[in-house]
Order: sequence, then C-alpha cells, then structure tokens
Amino acid sequence: MRLRDTGRPWPRKLRVDCKSDAAAALIARFGGSPSGDGDVDAVTVELIAGDQPREGYAIDLFEDRIVVAASEDAGFRHAATTLGELAAMGGYRIGRIVDAPSLSIRGFHLNFESYRRMGIDEAHRLLTAAAKFKLNAILVEYGPRFPYAEHPWVCDRALARGDGGARQGAAAARGLSVIPLQPSLAHMDYVLRHDRVGHLRERPDRANLMCPTHEESRRLAAALLSEVMDLHPLGRFVHIGGDEARKIGACDRCREAVRAQGVGGVIGEFLGRLARLVVERGKRPIVWDDTLCAHPDALAHLPKETIIQYWDYLAVADPTPVLIPRMAHARYGAPRVAHDWSWAVTGKAGRLSDVQRAVIRRYSRPSRLRRALGKDFLAKFRRYLGDGFPRWMTALPYIEFYQDRGFDVITSPTGMGNGDMTDGTPNFARFERNIITHAGRCRRNGKALGIITTAWYDMPPEMLYQPLIRTAMAAW
Ligand SMILES: [Zn+2]
Repeated sequence: MRLRDTGRPWPRKLRVDCKSDAAAALIARFGGSPSGDGDVDAVTVELIAGDQPREGYAIDLFEDRIVVAASEDAGFRHAATTLGELAAMGGYRIGRIVDAPSLSIRGFHLNFESYRRMGIDEAHRLLTAAAKFKLNAILVEYGPRFPYAEHPWVCDRALARGDGGARQGAAAARGLSVIPLQPSLAHMDYVLRHDRVGHLRERPDRANLMCPTHEESRRLAAALLSEVMDLHPLGRFVHIGGDEARKIGACDRCREAVRAQGVGGVIGEFLGRLARLVVERGKRPIVWDDTLCAHPDALAHLPKETIIQYWDYLAVADPTPVLIPRMAHARYGAPRVAHDWSWAVTGKAGRLSDVQRAVIRRYSRPSRLRRALGKDFLAKFRRYLGDGFPRWMTALPYIEFYQDRGFDVITSPTGMGNGDMTDGTPNFARFERNIITHAGRCRRNGKALGIITTAWYDMPPEMLYQPLIRTAMAAW
C-alpha cells in the first residue's frame, strides 16, 4: 500500500463504471449507481478485469478516478471493503493498494453447541465481523440446537429452521462459505443420552461414543447428516466430525470387528461411508484428524475428496518442543502431550517464551521421546519431525503425512480452547501464538488449504471477536 493524502475529503458519491462481469453483482457495494448523477463531488470507480491472484485486488486512486482490478467477485468484494475503510478514514488519498490473502481458506468456528447462550443475532454479528475482516469460511457446529425435523427428540434450544437456509444465504452474500458440522462417532452425547438410542452406545454407561458396527448407528448417523446437508444446500464442504473416538472396541460386536480389522479399519469403514454420502451430493467431506492419526490405516477407507482438518492447540512456535504423539498414545500409553526430558535437565527451558513455558508446564510431560514414541511411531512419523528432533520438532508435523497419503489439509488452532483461563480471563496470548503458528506453518507448507480457528466452552460470544480478528490477520 502506498498512499498520499490530497488534503481533500472523501468524495460524497462514487459513480461506478463496471467493465468486469465478475464485479456486476457487487456494484452497489462500491457506493453509487452505475450511471451516477454528475455531482461535482463525485469520483468514478472503474471496475476492470485483472489478473490478480484468487481473492486478490488492486486499487489505484488517482486525482479524478479510482480503478479497481480483480480476477473474480471475491477480489472485488474485498476491494469494496477496503474502499469502505478508506472512506471511513475521511480524507481522499491517492496511490496504489495491491492486496491478496496468503491462505485460501480462512475460517472461524461458530459453535452453537458450546456457546449455548449465542442466539441468531449474535451469530449474525460475528458473521458481519468475519466478512469485514475478509475471512471466507465459517464452520458451524449445532449439536442439539440444530432443528432436526425428522429427529425432533434430539433438539434442545434448537434454532428456527428458517435460520439455517437464511443464514447460509446471508453468509454467502458476504463471501462466507458456511461449512455445517455434524458429529459422528464421538461427541454424540446430545443424541445418545436419549433412552431410545441408548443401545447404540459403545459403552452402556457413557453417552459420548456411538457404536460404529451397529447397523442402526450407521443409519442414524447417515440420517442426521442428511438432515444437516438438506438445510445447507450451498457451499462446497460438509464436516462429519470424527474426533476423539478413543474407546472403539468396548462393545462385544466391535471387539470382534477390531480383532479382524483393527481399530483403524472399523473407524475408517464407518467414516468412509459417511464421507461418500457427502461426495454423492457433490461436496467435499471434512473430518477431524486425531482419530485417523492415532489409527492411520483408517485413512485407506476415506475417499480422496476428503479433507483432513488437523487440530493442534498447543503449537505456539515452529519449531516446537512439544509433540502430540497421537498414534503412540493410542498404542503404547505414552503421554498424550510430551517434550523431551533434556529440556528439564539442561535448564534451557528458561530460554523459551513465557507462552511456550506455560504450555509445557500445564499440558506436556517430560519424556525420553525416542524411546517413548516407539519404533512403529518413528517408522511412520520420524521423517516429519524435522532435524532438531527430539528437542525441537516441526510444528504440526502431520500436515505432510496426510498430504503424502493424498489428502488435502486444513489446520485448526483454537481461539478458545482447553479451558485455558488465567485469573478468569481466556489465555489469549497463547491462542494468538497458536493461530499465528498455524498460519505460518500452512504458508511454509505451501499446499495446505488454510486454517479454521475453533472456539469451545460456553462463553459470552463477544469473546470471540479477538481470536476471529487475529485469525483474519494471520491468514491474510
Ligand atoms: Zn460397538
């Protein structure tokens, strides 16, 4: 951006001269009618087709006119937002702005299930902020607040049915793609707590996990997913959950199946079936990564259209001393989060940042990493951990692991995770570093699709603006 103040106020009116088909639907956003009215205080905005990268734009501000170039509607939309910012600043500046995002997916988690006090109005305000800061994806999780028509017994504090389609349409008009999330396997408490489906629990006394080998489970998961897809006809992606399914094999039927196919085979078959339902509707399924990473043979069951959404809320630097060894944890009972023991004995941890040390202190256990991870883990993942292993490791090491198996990857930091509070205040310092680390790592990888920042717990929704804006800044 190179701008110089002219000493003149921003023009009262912008006349729009549209020379690009891609901009046609956005003319109103540029602040005037296509013909204008000859007002002396007016400046013409020419919208022209350019060769800008996806969502990118260029604005040239001359004394007597403004030229906006972009190659697609999203670029013009962002340019209109930027012109709005210039107008709000008041003075008319001349010069050039060349702008484009660094990540193609820049998203935020709108979590009606966790944020139980969040109504449709708060959600719309968050969408408005997301669009203003040029995000382009909203992952919407409903839980029991989804207005299931064919399974009304699941609903609790459900949103109105009209809100679903209206919300997706309103979001699309702002350039935001709504990605609905319907959990499957785990995080099914809101469904399995009901007696009528109590027999579908993997463990009779726990409602969180669905038995993946019960025929009725498959039908129920597919039916819930269909309802969610029906109410979200727009958009390219549908999220089918799949995270934290850690106790598969507890019921008799699954124990047999696990013996025959392994946990990965059982999980993969269940998720693969749901993923294909999404593909049949011409959309791409998204699935959380952690269960797949703990049981990598599950990946072979997923259609290649599947996008792996890789969450890691503890990476606050790249490289990082902290590893989440998902597979080793599943197989060996090693710590869920670990750093090499040498950090403790050399006293070098004192050189780490405050945020990093707090992560280690609160979430990670010292471990003789080479030994604790085991041969199987290292055979699969050592090459992704970087040259500094075991003290320093590449942040988000599984990005390339999934890509090498043919999957596209979105990564997820958190803007509100792990219940991390200091003096009653969310640990924004950590969440910020987590978001920045994810965005930087995706850029360095070059092929990762982007980031979607998650948000958990029942907080006032206003607390989400800070991580939302941080996500927008980090991903641009
Ligand atoms: Zn089972």
